[in-house]
Amino acid sequence: MDGPGALRVVPLTLGWVELPITVSLHGDTTGRRLREPVPAVLVETKQGWVLLDTGPNPALFADAPLYRRFHGRDPDIRSTLPGTGDPLLEELARAGLGLSDIVAVGISHLHWDHAGGIRHFAATGAPVYLQRAELEYGLSAQPGPEANGMFRIDYDDPAIDWHLAGGDTTIAPGVSAVSSAGHTPGHQSFVVDIAEEAGGGGFVFACDAADLTDNIENEVPVGGFIGCSPEDTVGSIRRLKALAADKGYRVVPGHDPVAWVALTAELSARWP
Ligand SMILES: [Zn+2]
Repeated sequence: MDGPGALRVVPLTLGWVELPITVSLHGDTTGRRLREPVPAVLVETKQGWVLLDTGPNPALFADAPLYRRFHGRDPDIRSTLPGTGDPLLEELARAGLGLSDIVAVGISHLHWDHAGGIRHFAATGAPVYLQRAELEYGLSAQPGPEANGMFRIDYDDPAIDWHLAGGDTTIAPGVSAVSSAGHTPGHQSFVVDIAEEAGGGGFVFACDAADLTDNIENEVPVGGFIGCSPEDTVGSIRRLKALAADKGYRVVPGHDPVAWVALTAELSARWP
């Protein structure tokens, strides 16, 4: 327990969304559809487990009128949960953990597929790290946020211990958040530095600043953006690439089915 940095990274898959690829790649004209994972990341730090993003809220799937309201808006986008229960609780249990093991939560942005599990931490009291600009947008006048995929029931709870940042910030030893606005007004990505005694290296988790490998390698704007032009989203992609290059890390895209499945296999072999 000597050097700085995190000890272990465990990728979680909390759902799947089948959608037109234009949702991820702005301007794509191929008409292709893609089945994208809904990821979250557990990081073991020297202060305990940190959870990055929280997946969907299953109550909004289980209840038919709520499903129609929240997920029936765009028939082109079909979302499914991995099991019958709460995806976050199920995946934590598979990792041998419970809610009380999570000492801090980082939220990339308030879209339903990232913010749907925040409610659990209103009860445990774990601090929840988010950009102030993101919460301000999320609590702004409707229908803006809800029409843009942010469901106020997921995050409008006075019991949440928000830690709101106005830029880059440290969440725990080896885990930091970096501002990458564009996809949403206060989107943030995460940098994880692995301690030398755990093998070293690290990752830049782009989250939805770059859904797919194509967004990163070919600097294709993401398909979803709020309050900016699609081209503006490339600024955040370039920032994350520069950060990763500087540290010798890779940028992990937020919803890439190939990269995510490969990373999950790689890390479960590295930390069985
Ligand atoms: Zn998103």
